[in-house]
Amino acid sequence: MNIADLVRRNIRELKPYSSARDEFSGEAAVFLDANENPYPSPFNRYPDPLQKKLKERISELKGVSQEKIFLGNGSDEAIDLIIRAFCEPAQDAILITEPTYGMYAVCADVNNVAVKRVPLTKDFQLDFDAVLAQADTSVKVIFLCSPNNPTGNLLDRNAILRLAREFQAIVVVDEAYIDFAGTESLTRDLDENPNLVVLQTLSKAWGLAGLRLGMCFASSFIINILNKIKYPYNISSLTQQYALEALQDEQRKGEWVREILSERTAVVAALKELPIVHQIYPSNANFILVKVENAPLIYRKLMELGTIVRDRSRVILCDNCLRITIGTPTENDILIRQLSELATAELTSKSSS
Ligand code: PMP
Repeated sequence: MNIADLVRRNIRELKPYSSARDEFSGEAAVFLDANENPYPSPFNRYPDPLQKKLKERISELKGVSQEKIFLGNGSDEAIDLIIRAFCEPAQDAILITEPTYGMYAVCADVNNVAVKRVPLTKDFQLDFDAVLAQADTSVKVIFLCSPNNPTGNLLDRNAILRLAREFQAIVVVDEAYIDFAGTESLTRDLDENPNLVVLQTLSKAWGLAGLRLGMCFASSFIINILNKIKYPYNISSLTQQYALEALQDEQRKGEWVREILSERTAVVAALKELPIVHQIYPSNANFILVKVENAPLIYRKLMELGTIVRDRSRVILCDNCLRITIGTPTENDILIRQLSELATAELTSKSSS
């Protein structure tokens, strides 16, 4: 497979903007090249356009070399850039396996790129034959999400790799929730699969959703394409500095993950006791998908009580499902108490009607 052939021609031939900090990035006594204000403030200078220090640390943490890392304003930026790099508007398509994270289709829509939708199986796994049946030559990118949002489960690793091997397109695996899954990332398979792209983020286990830092791992060829089309200074100095500091403390992230996973077990056990809960899907993430008696009603009642969960009941294969994020022990206790009260009220109204 020649990845260069998958890139849009205008992008392949594009001469990217070269910023002042691209052209000179070393140390100097006098910087008069970027039309900055010379008077010192924490932010009078432009940030490193390629975030080298941050990538050095991420490379250490993830075991992926720096030239195979792209950093974006959230992984949402990488999703958008991948579509723009590989899909010709009004001609090409992406393929998604539903239910899944909503931004793949939204970014495609924004770029006037068609979306082919293939349902997951009933146990939320890849339906390999259905994907291949839909995946004609217009499909340039397949987005998979593992662990998947909103279902919470990991997709079968062998099925993902089989798809990457057999399909002539970019296969993006969004691993936003991988830290909760206790399995190895697909980054270890990048070298054998030149069409594989892995997304991760600091927004979940690392507790930095407000910072906006997404990570994209792929061959250096693909990373160079993304670097060509990104905004020159897409990651602010503040984000770069803060993320670098936060990434020194991997232990703290590990403690959060352990705490959240143990809380997930407790929440699942408590939910199982409630008659309004019909099914709790197995989760490899920091949230659970729960089928309940009447999801829109319970969603509304919880909201009136001040607790917000996500009503996913209008999503394919998610009838009457709520997606519930695991919070602190106190927050989880509040949720369980409120749901118990709603369950009791429901029983009372049933017995009196
Ligand atoms: N991918 C998935 C599967 C997500 O659930 C989310 C956020 N909800 C994102 C990506 C976006 O992550 P970021 O904050 O890095 O843009």
